[in-house]
Amino acid sequence: MAKTMEEIVAHCKNTGFIFPGSEIYGGLANSWDYGPLGVELKNNIKKLWWEKFVQKRENSFGIDCAILMNPRVWEASGHVASFSDPLVDCKECKARFRADNLISDFSKGEVNPDLMTREEMSKYLSDNHVPCPVCKKSNFTPIREFNLLFQTHRGVTKESQQDIYLRPETAQGEYVNFLNVQRTMRAKVPFGIGQIGKAFRNEITPGNFTFRQIEFEQMEYQWFCHEGEDEKYYEEFKKASKDFFLSLGIGEDKLRFHDHDKLAFYAKAACDLQFLFPFGWDEVNGIHNRTNYDLSRHQEFSGKAMQYLDPITNEKFIPFVIENSYGLDRAILAVICNSYETEKLEDGEEREIMRIIPKLAPFKVAVLPLMKKDLSEKAKELFSKLSQSFRTIYDDTGSIGKRYRRQDQIGTPLCVTVDYETLENQTVTVRDRDTMAQIRLPISELEGYISKIVNG
Ligand code: ATP
Repeated sequence: MAKTMEEIVAHCKNTGFIFPGSEIYGGLANSWDYGPLGVELKNNIKKLWWEKFVQKRENSFGIDCAILMNPRVWEASGHVASFSDPLVDCKECKARFRADNLISDFSKGEVNPDLMTREEMSKYLSDNHVPCPVCKKSNFTPIREFNLLFQTHRGVTKESQQDIYLRPETAQGEYVNFLNVQRTMRAKVPFGIGQIGKAFRNEITPGNFTFRQIEFEQMEYQWFCHEGEDEKYYEEFKKASKDFFLSLGIGEDKLRFHDHDKLAFYAKAACDLQFLFPFGWDEVNGIHNRTNYDLSRHQEFSGKAMQYLDPITNEKFIPFVIENSYGLDRAILAVICNSYETEKLEDGEEREIMRIIPKLAPFKVAVLPLMKKDLSEKAKELFSKLSQSFRTIYDDTGSIGKRYRRQDQIGTPLCVTVDYETLENQTVTVRDRDTMAQIRLPISELEGYISKIVNG
């Protein structure tokens, strides 16, 4: 049985995946903290992504750029001038919304606001008496542009202060370092640069748990290639993005591509990969053929040549870029939504389970002494041994049945139980999360067995 968003949020909070940000102060809208389980899941997803795009791909390199960049970067990228959403306020209850979201929600996706001008959006809201989702009245202010950049200042005195921005995406760090990476790695086009890091957007409407936050993490990969090969690589990276989400254990039926209806004037193609969240299909990743726009703009604004000299043809040119932009938090949320369910057992009972694939599970194995009194010493010894190789959890509180259920709830694929027989013959029982089947194994074979399950 699939879960609702409310159940997912409650589960994440109660089990230690995700807590509301600064909760004891009443929270901060749209900010979330990853707990002990969430941070493990997050690190496991980052690792898979880094391996797939940076480590295992030929001609691929990683970087880790500063969050604060020279403000000219954001002028060149267009973010200062036009990284904005259409904002409206409800005149009755003062709630604030994105006009485009109001329209697509009201029309249940039938009307695409991306194809509308701001005037057309305003007209649609009033012609259709679109109600405010909070107070249900229909009385909105005219649309205003709301820039999503978080602005801050550097410098000690007021006079010497300079306005700077928290980066709204990680991609620009990859563009401005294009020639640094190319030169130091002696890279030949085509090659790629990836990075994982925080991004910040002053989103108007919070919503849907970690799906839309003001501070989030991106995994972005830019592929620099020759014009003429761009379409081939665009298709290749579309496939790679779907393969990546399939490798997180997400079913094909919960993934689909959505081509952008309206392209930026410089873009040749753009699509999103969408996941079927409990609140509907929505974007987890974007793939864009950005032509040579970004590097050309940085050449223009910095006055530094961003050209690549082809060592074979001696041709100098600015490469095309295929941008692959993954939201780490959305990938985590997709994995959680995909794996958390209530299962009806044959005996009529129910159990809560997270069917996270073992590679991503926060804990790979739980060590449980059947009786705390006589068996905890042996179990702790086993915990110390296994925790050198696998993220392991020890639990000796409550009945063994309850402890199994606790591990099912957080997605631990294996439970190892130390019982009286263990003291006699150095064997343990190993319980599988999904089938609940138990086998008996010598302790000496345990690491090999767990390894097979985790890496399988
Ligand atoms: P949306 O249309 O949902 O606002 P976007 O098209 O602005 O997203 P991009 O600029 O393409 O998003 O960003 C790349 C990726 O970063 C997205 O696919 C998404 O996974 C993630 N992302 C963007 N904004 C947020 C946010 N506010 N919170 C969490 N993740 C985000």
